[in-house]
Amino acid sequence: MGNSGRFIGILFFSAVAGVLIWRLPINGWGSLVWFAEGFLVNLIRAPHAQRNKENVIVDTRRKLTERILLGFVMLGGSFIPILQLTTGVFNAANYALSDLATGFGVLLLAPALYLFWRSHADLGRNWSVTVELREGHTLVTEGIYKRIRHPMYSAIWLMVLAQPFLIHNWIAGFAGIVSFGLIYFIRVPYEERMMHEQFGDEYDDYCERSGRLWPKW
Ligand code: SAH
Repeated sequence: MGNSGRFIGILFFSAVAGVLIWRLPINGWGSLVWFAEGFLVNLIRAPHAQRNKENVIVDTRRKLTERILLGFVMLGGSFIPILQLTTGVFNAANYALSDLATGFGVLLLAPALYLFWRSHADLGRNWSVTVELREGHTLVTEGIYKRIRHPMYSAIWLMVLAQPFLIHNWIAGFAGIVSFGLIYFIRVPYEERMMHEQFGDEYDDYCERSGRLWPKW
């Protein structure tokens, strides 16, 4: 991201944060935790996105499918929740939730952010937003990847599962589960096929000793 892009990003974040603090009595404190989580997610990802711009991509899978699915994820994971929390358009779909249940959502974010951070650190240069291989791609089977094949997706599952505990709205709370569920179930088969085609037996052996979202012992 260039300097002006970063500036616009920070401006947007601050503006939304301001509105969310102002609307705190309507949305509840979970909404602010949800927004802070989004900030941390961007903070964790930014240096990797910046560095991996230099990657030379040699294989890209399902470009159009990816575009559409990632669009849905942005919609359900960010746009719809922010729209609801700043304007209240879907207020008719609000529900009440206790502080205890909201706190449960916060608890889910701890392992989520840990997995999100570790998976970026361990994939390093091999990480990408879409399904692709870079020149010199290596198969990572250590660190957080030792027993889980998709720890980043485990992390995002935890985040979207936390969303309805933090945002008390049937539309904005559950939009993340719907949109991420869609990309998860459609993408994983062709992501794993690509890895199998690239790394052969090495990847098949790795699949044997690892779980998709949950560690295999
Ligand atoms: N599915 C993984 C990675 C998500 S990022 C997770 O949830 O943690 C998507 C990219 O990561 C894919 O395009 C693929 O090139 C790369 N990738 C996935 N698993 C990998 C592995 N074990 N080693 C190296 N690269 C991997």
